[in-house]
Amino acid sequence: MAWDFSTEPEFQRKLDWVEEFCREEVEPLDLVFPYAVRSRDPKIKALVKPLQDQVKEQGLWAIFLDKELGGPGYGQLKLGLLNEILGRYGSAPQIFGSAAPDTGNMEMLAAYGTEEQKKRWLEPMLNQEIWSAYSMTEPQGGSDPRLFKTHALRVGDEWVINGEKWFTSAGRVADILFVMCTNGMFVVPRDTPGVEIMPEPRAHNHIKYNDVRIPLDHLLGPEDGARVLAQRRLGGGRIHHAMRTIAQCKLAFDMMCERALSRESHGKIISEHQMVQEKIADSYAAIRMLRLFVLETAWKIDNSSTHETRTDIAAVKYTMAKVLREVSFNALHILGSLGTTNLTPIQAMYAGAPTMGIADGVDEVHKATVARNVLKDYEPHEGFWPTEYLPAKREKAREKFEPLFQEDPELRKIAEGYARYIARRS
Ligand SMILES: Cc1cc2nc3c(=O)[nH]c(=O)nc-3n(C[C@H](O)[C@H](O)[C@H](O)COP(=O)(O)OP(=O)(O)OC[C@H]3O[C@@H](n4cnc5c(N)ncnc54)[C@H](O)[C@@H]3O)c2cc1C
Repeated sequence: MAWDFSTEPEFQRKLDWVEEFCREEVEPLDLVFPYAVRSRDPKIKALVKPLQDQVKEQGLWAIFLDKELGGPGYGQLKLGLLNEILGRYGSAPQIFGSAAPDTGNMEMLAAYGTEEQKKRWLEPMLNQEIWSAYSMTEPQGGSDPRLFKTHALRVGDEWVINGEKWFTSAGRVADILFVMCTNGMFVVPRDTPGVEIMPEPRAHNHIKYNDVRIPLDHLLGPEDGARVLAQRRLGGGRIHHAMRTIAQCKLAFDMMCERALSRESHGKIISEHQMVQEKIADSYAAIRMLRLFVLETAWKIDNSSTHETRTDIAAVKYTMAKVLREVSFNALHILGSLGTTNLTPIQAMYAGAPTMGIADGVDEVHKATVARNVLKDYEPHEGFWPTEYLPAKREKAREKFEPLFQEDPELRKIAEGYARYIARRS
């Protein structure tokens, strides 16, 4: 019976180390030097590097990459357990070399890059010497890739890219941009002439690609292969977001419980009011359900593939967004006026929660995918009645007993008595 919810002691020791390391080292760095990991200031780099060296010594650097792709190969389940700690601390994924959008881009490079491309881009990305962004969404359409128009034309020994992209996260500060074109995925150095970054939005960039010329070897994977590469990237990305979301939910839950035990109203500690208890109990169950679903999905990926697990990945994606919305709302509400300020993490968490239902594909699209895939295992019933129509099932069941009834007329009479009783009830 291989159905075990425990963690091997050796890996648990690693998780305990990560928990303490994040609490004692990563969080203080984040509070005093936000975004330190991306800083080019040598003084700040000197604070970050020793922490990253410790992570490497523990064998936990770039843990999202499988062995055959050059990572430690822990698999998704262990990554899930790790991410449910890292997700609590803003800069922890970067301190562990496992932050989006670089992770997905590195995954594409590792899986589809030539040796030369890996040397040129993957190695420096792994060492955080360069940063990347992912340019897929376009101003005229996000959820439906059939509306994308950005195209690369082959002219002599160059590709010439024309098009417009919207919401390329961290595009402004990236060294290379992974640009999804209608005819393939291309790697474009940000300083290539023709890459025009619009002033707004500041963090998720609107980028125009005007006659951007890149060498032929900047095509990643096969020509016309962009959709396959994008799926590979987004499949992993979604489950990793879900793992980190568990951490956010737990943070909200911890804050809610602590506060509920600390405040008084109408003669009681507020945790003694039943409506507060309901919020705590519902949040507890929602987080437990989400965690089990995420970890089971991670386990399924380890035992099959991202492709074969795509229905559950899609279901996890909108479920985590829903749980985060609900739990962060409950926490904010229980914190009262304090919850509405930026003096605790809860207000930003709640304000950001709807984002989880949009980034990496809107809820509706994932729900439609899940329903479509799930329905493939069903067939319409014949005739007027569903399979579970009880009169027809009883009729069939009686046929099964007919030989016994013929041998024992008493038994038939008892069965007829039951039938009359059932008829009277309905
Ligand atoms: C924080 C964040 C970071 C992001 N980072 C990146 C990035 O780095 N690179 C990148 O390329 N993109 C990025 N995106 C963009 C993201 O991929 C798109 O927002 C997403 O695909 C949805 O596209 P859209 O915003 O154009 O919404 P639309 O496609 O316009 O959808 C808007 C709404 O229409 C409805 N809708 C759409 N389609 C359907 C449907 N089939 N059925 C039912 N209802 C539907 C839904 O209510 C949906 O919310 C990011 C988005 C966010 C929020």
